[in-house]
Amino acid sequence: MNARLLAFDIGGTKIRAARVENDALVDVATEPTPRRGSAIVARLIAVTRQMAGTSTLDGIGVSATGQVDATGTIVGSTRTLVEWAGTPLARELETVFAVPVVVVNDAKAAAVALWHQTGGGRVLVVTLGTGVGGGLVYEDGRFESGRSGRGGEFGHTLFRYGGARCPCGRRGCVEAYLAGTAIVRRARRALPGRRWPDLAAVVAEAAEPRIRRLWEAVGQELAAALIAWDLLFECDRYIIAGGVTRAASLFWPALEDGLRRDGRIAPTQVTLDPLGDDAFLLGAARVWEQRFGKRPS
Ligand SMILES: [Zn+2]
Repeated sequence: MNARLLAFDIGGTKIRAARVENDALVDVATEPTPRRGSAIVARLIAVTRQMAGTSTLDGIGVSATGQVDATGTIVGSTRTLVEWAGTPLARELETVFAVPVVVVNDAKAAAVALWHQTGGGRVLVVTLGTGVGGGLVYEDGRFESGRSGRGGEFGHTLFRYGGARCPCGRRGCVEAYLAGTAIVRRARRALPGRRWPDLAAVVAEAAEPRIRRLWEAVGQELAAALIAWDLLFECDRYIIAGGVTRAASLFWPALEDGLRRDGRIAPTQVTLDPLGDDAFLLGAARVWEQRFGKRPS
């Protein structure tokens, strides 16, 4: 009969939901993310009721944007969502449905799914999206989340001291340079006379010399960040994921040049995410299975 595990992916702009059966996603549904934390919780409850129907529910795995602690509470988030930080999401869902719930940061969820998908080892997944996230997965499938769940925040490691303001409140984080929103901001600065509504515009203008140099800078800076992380964790592989990878052809040559000049990481160790958005849902389900040690029947 049906697997009775539901997975959610709560992103900054959209929520995806699916039933998970034999490591595959079934009945994937997508809707816009409400702006307010309480409204997001209300939608998760409504969608869970609707998708579970009359069958018994075994559990819920949630991949969520923002920093998530070990109890499944959102403890930090970008400013696009209002009162999302502070939401005890796992507890709220457990109270309503009386099943085990896992809530995990989205980059970490994606990392776990990609670790399973691409053959294990020691892997760092870097998601370049609205923000920049990272998920470090060790050889045994365990992912790094620090003492309280707030560790392993690769996007907020320092890239430039005193540099651009990051949504986390600090200055000079990797996210402040390599997130999609940061790249749009940099295009505005490079070529202020034009309209830069979104990342697609920065991709479309790639032939313009100043924008071409911007994409080259993105590749070089990503190489520098990967090298810094490799000095700490020396991974077998690095996987680059997230919406910015739609522009991979524009920054990949500079990324590979940067790696070759340094010599520490071989360009063949760095690949693009093969799963796309599904990594978040599949990862949420995998982490649920890791945590509760059973597969849904
Ligand atoms: Zn930051």
